[in-house]
Amino acid sequence: MTLRVIPRLLRLAMTDKPTLQVQNISRKAIPAKSETPKPLPPIPTVPITSSTGQTIPLIDIGSQISSKYYRPHRLRENHIPTLLERASKAGLSHIILTGTTHSESVEALETCAAFDGTHSVTLRCTVGIHPHRATSTMTSSYRNTFDAELEKLIMSEKGKKYCVALGECGLDYDRKFSLHQHQKEVFQKQLRLAKKLGKPVFLHNRNAHDDFFTILKPYLPDIKAVAHCHTDPSVQHLKQLLDAGVYIGLTGIICDPREGRFNTEIIKYIPLERLMVETDSPYLFPRNVPKPWGERNCEPCLTSFVVKKIAEVRGDCNEEIVARKTTQVAKAFFGL
Ligand SMILES: [Zn+2]
Repeated sequence: MTLRVIPRLLRLAMTDKPTLQVQNISRKAIPAKSETPKPLPPIPTVPITSSTGQTIPLIDIGSQISSKYYRPHRLRENHIPTLLERASKAGLSHIILTGTTHSESVEALETCAAFDGTHSVTLRCTVGIHPHRATSTMTSSYRNTFDAELEKLIMSEKGKKYCVALGECGLDYDRKFSLHQHQKEVFQKQLRLAKKLGKPVFLHNRNAHDDFFTILKPYLPDIKAVAHCHTDPSVQHLKQLLDAGVYIGLTGIICDPREGRFNTEIIKYIPLERLMVETDSPYLFPRNVPKPWGERNCEPCLTSFVVKKIAEVRGDCNEEIVARKTTQVAKAFFGL
């Protein structure tokens, strides 16, 4: 497959498509009311272990554990403790929840406050506005004050305790939820705020590399940045980000073997010193999880499958090394 084909296929198939993707999953996962629900195979909780059998702690740098997409076929409001129990069994020491709007950032902070430390899993979060929400922000009464509102949230008591980065913010030209001009303005204001507050940024970029990098670059001497759920198949774009000091977050999309979903070649170009792992749960179920899959929503407990895939593709280090290194990088990056 040529690299020119990949972006087009990615546009068709790419993720961060909550509505479509999860509806598809839900249709498969929820039996019709008249049917008797079949018992589903449990979601696997497989930690990465050392040669002596010791569990290596993992950090999922991007998850939305309070997402409504868990609720239809999970334990509703009680799904978080059981989800964290599975995460703990799979070796997760920290999960960073993703804020995508002001209200979802408030929810992320509240979730941290309510569940931090449950089953020994530390919860932290990001606070910010996703590019999909740029137009709704710029056409609301908050258009001139949204950055000041985010600042208030980050500087609140809970914000100081739990918020470790601004975001997710960036550009998405793949899906058409927000005008490009609105996305650029919302992105730029969040970068300015990150610089002012000395916070790292958790970045989203889909099919917008040139504008994304042009806007981001002037801020990089002053702020730390991670390109979350990096899916750009271009090695040249990746090198541009790495040369400018950007860190890379990889999700379960790297485990999707279907043509055009992910160019695994790029994994070999990312130094371990710049690499972090994430699930982007409830989305992006890693397709290297052994079948039968049963419940199809992704969870932080599946972070180890992303680690396994990275080690498999690289071939120059084992999964223990990938686990140790990505955890070390995430701790330093987010100040955990
Ligand atoms: Zn994203």
